[in-house]
Amino acid sequence: MSDKEEIRVEETLDPQDWSGMRALGHRMLDDMIDYLESVRERPVWQPIPEPVRASFEQPLPLEPQPAGEVYQEFLENILYHPMGNIHPRFWGWVIGTGTVTGMLAEMLAAGMNPNLGGGDQVPAYVEAQVLDWCKQMLGYPQSASGLLVSGGSMANLIGLAVARYARAEFDIRQEGLQSGHKPLTFYGSSEMHSSIEKAIELLGIGMNALRLIPVNQAFQIDLQALQSAIDSDRAAGLQPVCVIGNAGTVNTAAIDDLQALADICEREGLWYHVDGAFGALAALSPELQPRVTGIQRADSLAFDLHKWMYVPYEIGCVLVRDEDAHRRAFSLTPDYLAHATRGLAGGNLWFSDYGIELSRGFKALKAWMSFKEYGTQKYGRMIRQNVDQAQYLGRLVDDEPRLERLAPVSLNIVCFRFKGMNLQDVDLNALNQEILIRLHEQGIAVPSYTNLNGNYCLRVAITNHRSRFEDFEVLVKEVLRLGDEILSS
Ligand SMILES: *Cc1c(COP(=O)(O)O)cnc(C)c1O
Repeated sequence: MSDKEEIRVEETLDPQDWSGMRALGHRMLDDMIDYLESVRERPVWQPIPEPVRASFEQPLPLEPQPAGEVYQEFLENILYHPMGNIHPRFWGWVIGTGTVTGMLAEMLAAGMNPNLGGGDQVPAYVEAQVLDWCKQMLGYPQSASGLLVSGGSMANLIGLAVARYARAEFDIRQEGLQSGHKPLTFYGSSEMHSSIEKAIELLGIGMNALRLIPVNQAFQIDLQALQSAIDSDRAAGLQPVCVIGNAGTVNTAAIDDLQALADICEREGLWYHVDGAFGALAALSPELQPRVTGIQRADSLAFDLHKWMYVPYEIGCVLVRDEDAHRRAFSLTPDYLAHATRGLAGGNLWFSDYGIELSRGFKALKAWMSFKEYGTQKYGRMIRQNVDQAQYLGRLVDDEPRLERLAPVSLNIVCFRFKGMNLQDVDLNALNQEILIRLHEQGIAVPSYTNLNGNYCLRVAITNHRSRFEDFEVLVKEVLRLGDEILSS
């Protein structure tokens, strides 16, 4: 560069003051560890104050602002108004709690910031290792393929997409569903998760072709009804493709007869997909494992690591028994993504060949660190502990005449309601709805709700490693207090 040339002003987003940024980073770390250590002392959830809500209606920032000030706003307006799922008394929907290690791993992963779409880089080997461990812990063959995804919804979508591709009997990638072939039909119980419906809609199958098979008293798929549905669809000239089994339904944690479903699929030549979002992880506990025997026979298996493995959001996994079918359903390699034999574009681990995302984050690290730090035996004990807690809550409910349990406690979910003593002309649905809202608003506990046979119930789903037995005593005591309070007002 000659002296006469204009000096370019080059900018970067790296800090000007590295030591100041280092100090801020240390402060953030300390604050977050304090925050997690003291979570039990705070309310589970609080209504969001109006000024906080309003603080998110600011105009687009044009000018820079010091990082410390931005962090201050995080402390004031964000940190203390969470969903609450890291709290020991959060049991809403099926939501995981995260861990300290998981939080730290997220920072390390973001610092490295690799793109896991492909390429010969060690983060890809970390993901492959996590997938291998997932196969081992669920008794799945090592030859299977898999993918870490955002969660159970994406895992179900990918599994069903492979099913559709592998069993369509025509080239679905080329011809699509518009080429006048026999309509494809899918089967699963009426208790399936909404993500299955979304996948069926998105895959162009349409809800009319998803047979919602009735369930028995224990909310498990009725095998006879399933068989007749398959038979009559075949007789009508349709093409049955796939049966979806539940390892832990979202309403009651019911587990379908997974062996019997595998037998039916084998006999009928159908793809067998299992939605084991949380229930599949029961396989980690030697005492619970027999309840999910059969998941290892699935052609594709979807489950979450952010629910019952307590890894922070987001991370789910899909495993596919037939690697070739999995890759062929998705692989698409234009010139600009061609795999090389050497260099960074080499290696065999191109995860973008197994799903719809090209750019992918380093989700694997938080799982890899968690597997190593806790070991699957401890995970098994934590899962068992949650199941024991569900049994305990079930007993507390059964022993209290003012409460009524509305479903068997199958695994880690308890559905019950307040019914008071000899109440007449009281709308129990409205009463329990109000109890739930007050539990939330008073920051006591977060169950969620569902509707079983027309009855609104409080639903406690335990995937929480921070819960203690005494927390369930608190819940029962407070439900009774609120129920009486609402009745007397
Ligand atoms: C949570 C859940 C899903 C969806 O998983 P996400 O991780 O929320 O996408 C699917 N099926 C069942 C049974 C679930 O509990």
